[in-house]
Amino acid sequence: MKPEEILKQIAQEVSVCTLCELHYSRKNAVPGEGPVNAEVMFIGEGPGFHENEQGRPFVGAAGKYLEELLASVNMKRSDVFIANVVKCRPPGNRDPLPAELASCSDYLERQIRAINPKVIVTLGRYSMAHFLPNAKIGDIHGQAMIVKGRLIVAMYHPAAALHQQSLKATIERDFARLPELMAKARYESSSNASNSEQPSEHEAGPVEEKKEPKQLSLF
Ligand code: URA
Repeated sequence: MKPEEILKQIAQEVSVCTLCELHYSRKNAVPGEGPVNAEVMFIGEGPGFHENEQGRPFVGAAGKYLEELLASVNMKRSDVFIANVVKCRPPGNRDPLPAELASCSDYLERQIRAINPKVIVTLGRYSMAHFLPNAKIGDIHGQAMIVKGRLIVAMYHPAAALHQQSLKATIERDFARLPELMAKARYESSSNASNSEQPSEHEAGPVEEKKEPKQLSLF
């Protein structure tokens, strides 16, 4: 199946998913959206009120701020893929439960494999924990880490930054590094492709898991 067909298939499965209790209260599932060839994938926590109404990620206040952050580095939301760790709204915007995260995890992993982004930006604690379960956001935000062969940059959640001025300055600084990280990731993947040391995941299947997440030294 082509990557775009895989994404459609995942969205279809998510729309009728009953793997966890969140399906009882959802109005619309929110599989995520963006181009299949996006270089950057943003992963948030889960749909809120507006996302549940519209079936689209980051369409409320946090989404407006995310769009401003993207504009600050000359990017548009249509350039990037935006998804969440849970695809249905936790009632009252409560934190997602471990069972809900576990039920939804395979959808996210399949989306990542289909898109094969050069950079994954996690927004908030739950999204970071999907890749780096023991990390503290205060310690690693804005740094490039390699996890399971993928370049992950953890950032604060835009909604948290909206409510706390000090985090706003931090997320804006972290975002400002994104073009540089993308350029380096592009360079890395082109040099890997030319000496064919590391074939792309599209061809080779998942890269072998490393024991410890490694910070990318040259970044
Ligand atoms: N917050 C998230 O984490 N995801 C959304 O889609 C909207 C708000």
